[in-house]
Amino acid sequence: MQLETNFAYIDENYKRIIDTMEEAKAKYRKPTDEITLMAVTKTVAPEAVNHAVACGIHTLGENRVQEYLSKKEFYAKDASVHFIGHLQTNKVKYIIEDMDLIHSVDSLHLAEEINRHAARIQKVQNVLIEVNVGGEASKSGVDPEQLEELLLGVAQLSNVHVQGLMTIPPATGDEKFLFRMQQLFLDISAKKMDNIDMEILSMGMSGDYAAAIRYGSTLVRIGSALFGARKYQ
Ligand SMILES: *Cc1c(COP(=O)(O)O)cnc(C)c1O
Repeated sequence: MQLETNFAYIDENYKRIIDTMEEAKAKYRKPTDEITLMAVTKTVAPEAVNHAVACGIHTLGENRVQEYLSKKEFYAKDASVHFIGHLQTNKVKYIIEDMDLIHSVDSLHLAEEINRHAARIQKVQNVLIEVNVGGEASKSGVDPEQLEELLLGVAQLSNVHVQGLMTIPPATGDEKFLFRMQQLFLDISAKKMDNIDMEILSMGMSGDYAAAIRYGSTLVRIGSALFGARKYQ
């Protein structure tokens, strides 16, 4: 029996993703644009996650608080950890110290809770506002019509700093939603709102990251294209 786990498939997937990203960037973007590749870790064993880090991925995306807490001690220490899942206000306290960026702020109530816990540990928590660009009932995220009002509220919180927007567009793959997000991102950027930066557009997953790069994404969140299909217990 072979005890050593073979992660060659991750090497191959990583190479393919990097090539696809480079291709999309060469076609649609400026050479100076930096696009971050995040490894989405849900259901993935820490050993496989660490292999992805060793390949050169330095940003990990966590969806579930419990799962993260059970895996974090096994993670390579040089990776930056982001929270990308739906976040309940009563769970903020468990992750506030570890997260370099929380992608899923979609209400003032949640932002206020993050602010309260961040203040307690004297941290300014970087966040993105999640936008429900397809208006789907099943998805989290603020309605595009209410985005500006939410930004004005969050901008008042001294221990929360908005760095941009995140979205999970409808699974239909219709590029009009990616285009709409790009427009929202540029519109808010142009308004130069106090205490609001638009540096990060977190958009694109395994099925649509090349298209997302076309529409201005600065961070793609990749799970299954890197680690293979998820096996839920
Ligand atoms: C699971 C997940 C991803 C990655 O999905 P894949 O299609 O497997 O790449 C990206 N973003 C969020 C918020 C997720 O929950």
